[in-house]
Amino acid sequence: MNLPKIYWRIAIPFLVVTLALAFGLFLVLTRTSCLRNPECVLRSVFLTTGLALATVLLVSWIIARRTTRPIRELTEVAQRLAAGDDTARVLLHRRDEIGGLIRAFNAMTERQRERYNDLAQANVQSSAVLEHMADGVIITDEAGMVTLINPAARALLNMTEMDALGMSFAALVRHHTLIELWQRCRKQRTEQTEAVEVSPQLFLQAVASPYRAGGAEGYVILLQDLTQVRRLQVMRRDFITNLSHELRSPLASLRAVVDTLHAGAIGDPPAAERFLGQASSEIDTMTQMVEELTQLSQIESGQIRLRLEAEDLGVLLEMPLERARPQAEAAGLTLTADVPTDLPPVLVDGERIRQVVTNLLHNAIKFTPPGGQVTVSGRVEEAEVGGSPEVVVEVRDTGIGIPKIDLPRIFERFYKSDRARTRGKSGTGLGLAIARHIVETHGGRLWVKSKEGKGSSFFFSLPIATAAAGTDSGE
Ligand code: ADP
Repeated sequence: MNLPKIYWRIAIPFLVVTLALAFGLFLVLTRTSCLRNPECVLRSVFLTTGLALATVLLVSWIIARRTTRPIRELTEVAQRLAAGDDTARVLLHRRDEIGGLIRAFNAMTERQRERYNDLAQANVQSSAVLEHMADGVIITDEAGMVTLINPAARALLNMTEMDALGMSFAALVRHHTLIELWQRCRKQRTEQTEAVEVSPQLFLQAVASPYRAGGAEGYVILLQDLTQVRRLQVMRRDFITNLSHELRSPLASLRAVVDTLHAGAIGDPPAAERFLGQASSEIDTMTQMVEELTQLSQIESGQIRLRLEAEDLGVLLEMPLERARPQAEAAGLTLTADVPTDLPPVLVDGERIRQVVTNLLHNAIKFTPPGGQVTVSGRVEEAEVGGSPEVVVEVRDTGIGIPKIDLPRIFERFYKSDRARTRGKSGTGLGLAIARHIVETHGGRLWVKSKEGKGSSFFFSLPIATAAAGTDSGE
């Protein structure tokens, strides 16, 4: 029979005590003098019984203590674990069944601790992902109350966490398409996707999915900010529309010239000469447009190599000013330069910056009625960012000015104000886009101040050359 070890732990002491007492009684009773004396026999039986009782009580007490000690320890450790002390362990070593229970208890506690640590780590990782992900995440319960909102979602919806938690999803997003998306997801219990223009500055893709975990149900709403992607799509569409629009008029004009020549004008040399001149001018316009587009794409893709050298601003401006002078005179304008001689040299690719000045002067002359003034000036200013000194060049005119509504858009490719179009001022609408890119490639800024009817001032900043100037940059 396979008896438990604990049985022997209890039985053996009792067995030993019983045998010892029986042996003692036997010794006493076998003493002849006592056997014959009934009083002695009685005393011996009482004494032995008393001794046996005392010994049994003592042994029982010892056994009870030894048996309950691990139970007390187990209880105490279980209480410490419940109170959050995950280092608590039972340190008793026993080889019987209670020892087995203690080892199993300690192993279980250790496993629980490992599991808890794994869970805590997974939790930290998910929180880090949620904290740093670019997409917004909102979790709502079944009733639509927000239970989690990550920083990206808070930024998109302009909310603080304190305000958002516990709020209803509808009150949080305040947009009917998003609310309907959530309601559809709740009704159909399937993932729902929707592109939403929340405002002119915010275009979102929202994905709502139902979830069920640990008996709880709710919804995860993912908000992806596609404003930039959308802007690029619109820009590309506008670019193609503008390009075809810009090419249409010179091509139509060429078509008309060729048709007229075919129709007989070719036999009239003075008329043919005039038509050919017109054709040549249209071809020049298209060639300029293609050249500017190529240049713009090279600058935008970072393919141009700047040959940076320290140059004196006065010297740098000479050539574009000289080239613009006959144009200005023909347009009845006064062109002046106001560039102090003590300006520090600038670190530039001279050819490119001369092109910037040429584009700005060209516009100033084009958009200033006769009798007006165009002035180019230079000065040292503190940079808006960082506060270090830089040279700022200004091209100012007293022309027609730029409507407020057009100001943010004039640096876009092909952008021309309606007035520029209706007044028949030829141009590709690429000059300012090219100028801004060139200036920015130099690390500077190009900006404008203008008042309709009063004139415009275009400014651009250039870096000041340090002693170790003269290097190549770009690809
Ligand atoms: P464009 O080849 O048409 O001149 P730009 O990119 O140089 O192209 O200029 C874009 C538009 O900005 C112009 O069509 C015009 O409407 C406006 N603009 C630029 N410079 C001036 C200026 N000095 N005065 C008034 N409007 C200007």
